[in-house]
Amino acid sequence: MSKSSSTFTSILALHCPRCHEGNLFTHPNSFSYKKMIQMPKECSVCNLQFEPEPGFYWGAMFLSYGLTVGFSVFNFIWMYLIWGWLTWQFLVVNAVLLALVIPYTFRFSRCLYLYIIQSFEPKNRVG
Ligand SMILES: [Zn+2]
Repeated sequence: MSKSSSTFTSILALHCPRCHEGNLFTHPNSFSYKKMIQMPKECSVCNLQFEPEPGFYWGAMFLSYGLTVGFSVFNFIWMYLIWGWLTWQFLVVNAVLLALVIPYTFRFSRCLYLYIIQSFEPKNRVG
């Protein structure tokens, strides 16, 4: 990732909030279910601690909940209100879509939570 990447693209790419270069997760594939939660202890570029304190990511659960509810409301609007699907059709399709996006939602909420407390500091690069 180039140094000029914006905060928005760095969040989407799940990169370090301080340098916008290091990867937040050990394995790049969000959909590898066994490995999706593995994070390095610190950024490989700027050495930012990715878990500032024990239990830090508990708060990310609330972000994940909010993202999931927002996604479901979005699905409700286009499936139920615009297309006129039946309630059970909405529930089944929404459940399938949620199951598909859960790995990315999990990572994205952790990334957002870390971005809330850590600002971009491009000068903190190591080496
Ligand atoms: Zn970094």
